[in-house]
Amino acid sequence: MTQIEYQFTEDFAKKMDAEDPLKDFREEFFFPQVNGQEAIYFCGNSLGLQPKSVKSYLGKELENWANLGVDGHFHGEDAWYHVRQKSKPALAEIVGGHTHEVVAMNNLSSNLHFLMVSFYQPTKERYKIIVEAGAFPSDIYMLETQVRFHGLDPEDAIVELKPREGEYYLRTEDILTEIKTQGDALAMVNMAGIQYYSGQLFDIQAITEAAHSVGAYAGFDLAHAVGNAVLKLNEWDVDFATWCSYKYLNSGPGNISGIFVHERFADRPDLPRFGGWWGHDESQRFLMEKGFVPMHGADGWQVSNTNVLALAAHQASLDIFQKAGMETLRAKSEMLTGYLEYLIQQISGKSGILEIITPKNPAERGCQLSLHIHRGGKSVFDEWYSQGVVGDWRNPNVIRLAPTPLYNSFLDVFKFGLILEQSLKKFA
Ligand SMILES: *Cc1c(COP(=O)(O)O)cnc(C)c1O
Repeated sequence: MTQIEYQFTEDFAKKMDAEDPLKDFREEFFFPQVNGQEAIYFCGNSLGLQPKSVKSYLGKELENWANLGVDGHFHGEDAWYHVRQKSKPALAEIVGGHTHEVVAMNNLSSNLHFLMVSFYQPTKERYKIIVEAGAFPSDIYMLETQVRFHGLDPEDAIVELKPREGEYYLRTEDILTEIKTQGDALAMVNMAGIQYYSGQLFDIQAITEAAHSVGAYAGFDLAHAVGNAVLKLNEWDVDFATWCSYKYLNSGPGNISGIFVHERFADRPDLPRFGGWWGHDESQRFLMEKGFVPMHGADGWQVSNTNVLALAAHQASLDIFQKAGMETLRAKSEMLTGYLEYLIQQISGKSGILEIITPKNPAERGCQLSLHIHRGGKSVFDEWYSQGVVGDWRNPNVIRLAPTPLYNSFLDVFKFGLILEQSLKKFA
């Protein structure tokens, strides 16, 4: 990436927008209103905006259901029986895997549980799990309850990685050292791809390699990484991963999750799993016979029949991602987040009111910047919100802002700069 001479001027922001190859995608999304004006929406890390095309994708399935009833399962090229196939090329591209390594199913936390059934088989000697400290609550509860399910003590089995004293995020070298230290006791690493609080993008490849070198599995929760960072799960040799589709993937609140299972496990019926009819050999499924035969690849982890309406909304967004392309998105993302970082430093630099706790190195972050608020607390966030800035507040003192490359503009970031400048006078 060439170094950009950022400027805190409207002309600069407009020039950047004019040169942005993705500028037209903004028009494909609905922007919510805050206090009667279009929001400066920096919350795609929590809930992505609605593509305008979602209604017609859903409408088509509602029509199929109305006109075909149960015959919709096997009718034409949109047959519900095979509907998951349609999402695979885009999902494979977004996470850097093959189509047989990915499938859309369930929700994220449920998927992590199902995947751990296969990949967390603790023994007396090898039973530890490494996770970053302060992981997302659902992940914490999931690990705790899985460990207890196996009759183990979470205090003993779960190893939490904490940043060094006075630091906000983890050093890769410290993660790798801990993996080596746990050695033969380590059953799996189960970390975020991007940490939801700090915004740190972990070195997934190095972590996976280290885990494998001590004989452990490496699995990742990609809730904040999918559709945000460029991922190469197959090449990086990741064992398994899961994500949700309602954050950067803009597929609607609570919508369907996805999983990746590396192809070396594609034909491993011996791996323990909790089965269901949709993971059973497709050609035999409706024979309704005893004896679970898992499908090839990620499909063999499916449990229930596909949520067709969920997938329709998901597909609207996946089609947009395929048009935009992850590499192009990422290139803009680095510039856009770089601009936000520049403005925050220029404007609030010496005020001591806020501090960016997300890594400075673009290779160690996605589009989100997390701001530690040293003075003013949540009233800083409330002030911004009253001016139309939608970010989010995380206790005890962090505001997360995520300019997403698909629908945010440099002008959005510039406008935020003006609001920031005004607000700091109040909290000075
Ligand atoms: C958003 C998020 C979840 C949410 O899990 P659901 O099962 O979709 O409710 C879990 N883990 C992480 C890290 C998240 O960011």
